[in-house]
Amino acid sequence: RFISIEGIDGAGKSTHLQSMVERFARSGATVVQTREPGGTELAEALRGLFLHAGMDGLTEALLVFAGRRDHLLRVIEPALARGDTVVCDRFADASFAYQGHGRGMDLQQLATLEQWVLEGRQPDLTLWFDLDPAIAAQRRVGREVGAREADRFEQQDLEFFTRVRAGYAARAAAAPQRFVRIDAGVSVAEVAAQVAAALESRGW
Ligand code: C5P
Repeated sequence: RFISIEGIDGAGKSTHLQSMVERFARSGATVVQTREPGGTELAEALRGLFLHAGMDGLTEALLVFAGRRDHLLRVIEPALARGDTVVCDRFADASFAYQGHGRGMDLQQLATLEQWVLEGRQPDLTLWFDLDPAIAAQRRVGREVGAREADRFEQQDLEFFTRVRAGYAARAAAAPQRFVRIDAGVSVAEVAAQVAAALESRGW
C-alpha cells in the first residue's frame, strides 16, 4: 500500500507521519518512509535547486516531476512490488496545489505531466492535513525560530497558501475515494485520532 501525506506548510504533517510509520511497523509491515520533492539522491539534488533558486512555474513543475519519476522508479515501485508499505510526505497532489493553484501553472499541462510520469500510479490513500493558512503561518513562525532557514515557499504570503489550500480541496473533491481530509486545526491528540480512524476504516 502507498500512502501520501499532503497539506500546506505548517499543517503538522511531519508529527503524524512519524507516528503512522511507527503504527505500521508495529503491525509487522516493512515501511519505506520517503518524501517529495526528493526521495532519491538525484531528486534530493533537484529539491535543493528547486527550494532555493527562483524560477517560473513550468520550470518548477518539470524539476519536481523529473525528481518524481526517479523517485517512483527507484524507490516507490520497487517497494510496492516487494509488498512494503510506502509512506510519502507529499506526492503529485502537491504539484497541482503548489505549481498549479499556487503558481498558476496550467492544470491540464500538469495532468499531462502526471500521466506521463506516473503511468497511472496513485497513492491508495492520501491524508490531507487541512488547516487555515493564517493558523499555519503562526505555527511556522514558532517552528522556524532557531531552526533551519525558511525556504522560498514558506516565505509566501497568505494569499498563496489560500490558493494552495483550494488546490488541495479541488484534488480531494475529484478523488473522494483516495482522499481523507484531516482537520488539522485541533489538538495533536485529536488529529492523531482522525488519522487512526482513517487507517482503521481501511482495515489498516
Ligand atoms: O514538505 P516540505 O516542507 O519538505 O516541502 C518543501 C517546500 O517545497 C515546502 O515549502 C513546499 O511548500 C514546497 N513544495 C512546492 N511544490 C511541491 C512540493 C513542495 O512548492 N510540489
